[in-house]
Amino acid sequence: MKKLVALLLTTVMAMTMLTACGGSEAATTESADGVASAALADGVLTVGTNAEFPPFEYVGDDGQPDGFDMALVKAIGEKLGVEVKIENMEFASLVTSIGSKIDIAAAGMTVTEERKETVDFSNPYYEAVQYVVLPADSAIATAADLEGKTIGVQLGTTGDFIATDIPGSTVSSYNKAVDAVNDLVNGKVDCVIIDKNPALVFESKFEGQVVAVDGAQFEFEIENYAIALPKGDTVLAEQINTAIEELKADGTFDELVKTYIEAE
Ligand code: GLN
Repeated sequence: MKKLVALLLTTVMAMTMLTACGGSEAATTESADGVASAALADGVLTVGTNAEFPPFEYVGDDGQPDGFDMALVKAIGEKLGVEVKIENMEFASLVTSIGSKIDIAAAGMTVTEERKETVDFSNPYYEAVQYVVLPADSAIATAADLEGKTIGVQLGTTGDFIATDIPGSTVSSYNKAVDAVNDLVNGKVDCVIIDKNPALVFESKFEGQVVAVDGAQFEFEIENYAIALPKGDTVLAEQINTAIEELKADGTFDELVKTYIEAE
C-alpha cells in the first residue's frame, strides 16, 4: 500500500511539473492563483508599437515590425502560451489605445508619472537617457545653449516634454523620428532630442552629417523603459513580469540585447 501511495504521488508530481513547464495553454494564461487575465481570454496578445524607433522597433525588410521590443513581446507571448499580434500606430496614440485597440504597448516607452495616471507599467526592462542630435558643426554644448533653439522631437515622447520645458524653445514635432533628423540635416531645426539608442542609430545612418551627444552633458535624467499595461489588470502585470524574469534567468533577454542593441 505504501508503495502504491508513493507511486501515485510521484505520478502526480511528474504531471504537475509537466504542466508547469508550459505543456498546457490553460495553465500558462493563468496567474499563480489561477485567475485568468481578460486581456488574454481570446488567446491573443495585441501589442501596440510605433515602428520608427530603431533598434527597439522598426519596419523590417519583410515589411513587418521588428526590433528588440518585438522580439521581447514575442518571447513573452511564447511563455504565456498566447499568439502575439503587433499593431503599428503613432506613438502618441499608444497609451490611450490600451484596453481598446491594443492590450499592451511595447515601444521603448519611458515610465512617467503622467502616463501612470492612464496605464500601469511592467517592471522596467531597459535604462535610457535622451540624447541631443546635432549637425556635425554645431556649437551647442550645454543646457544653456539649448535655450531659444528650434528643437525637433518625436510627438508625445519624453524628448518632446523636455524640449517643451526648455526656456524660449520652439518645438517641431514629427510622427517619425527620421523626419526630424532629415529636417536637422536640411537646417530646419537646430537639434533633435531623442533617446540614446535611436540617436546612435541615426548618427551612423547620417554619418558625417550629424553627431549624437549624451544627454548627461545637458543635465537630462535617466529614464526607464517598461511595457505599458491596462490600468488595474494586476493579473496581466504579474504574468508579464514573471515572463520577463524567466527570460532574464534563462539568458534569452541578454541574447536579444546582444542581437538587437549591442550589434548596432
Ligand atoms: N522613451 C521615449 C518615450 O517614452 C520615446 C519612445 C519612442 O519614441 N518610441 O517617450
